[in-house]
Amino acid sequence: MTPKKPILLHCCCAPCTVYTYQRLCDEGYSPTCYFHNPNIHPYTEFMRRLDAMKVFAFDMGANLLIDENYGLDRFLEATFGKTERCTLCYEMRVFETARFCHEQGLNCFTTTLLYSKYQKHKGIIDACQLAADEHGVEFVYMDFREGWKDGISGSKQMGLYRQQYCGCIFSEQERYMSDARKGIAPSEISNPVEKGTTKR
Ligand code: SF4
Repeated sequence: MTPKKPILLHCCCAPCTVYTYQRLCDEGYSPTCYFHNPNIHPYTEFMRRLDAMKVFAFDMGANLLIDENYGLDRFLEATFGKTERCTLCYEMRVFETARFCHEQGLNCFTTTLLYSKYQKHKGIIDACQLAADEHGVEFVYMDFREGWKDGISGSKQMGLYRQQYCGCIFSEQERYMSDARKGIAPSEISNPVEKGTTKR
């Protein structure tokens, strides 16, 4: 049997990792998950998503490496007042992933950001390719959006925490202000696990 190829998988959150991780395994890779997300705010949300990632890794027997530093200052410094906030956010995460990939002696990486139907897919690809070139590693592209439904049902079956907004404090505001405008009270949208919706 051909040995599986090691790959570093940047993981934005556990629900987005479910399909992505399985797809990589099915395609002959041996993924090591890497949680590095200075974009997630506030701190309680950061910890909740990190805990969900640990649950996923435990249940799947997956390798998980974690950057536990809470990145509010770094994120705001890099993005505050900038119109291209999401692009900068992708770059922050995938450049560090490519650097870490090289440091770990791995040859290639990819990211669960490519699973999302809500993100700027081409912008993520461009950021990953730039990061790969800068750090001398390979970026492995797959269109993980193909498994959108499988990932949702899989994360529900695993009972993983499914967040209500993308991650940064700006996206949190957009998410909940939008509900407030529709007259939905915060108490009615505070249990994302039961509601089973996500805005990744
Ligand atoms: S909306 Fe999402 S991708 Fe855009 S800056 Fe905020 S966390 Fe990053």
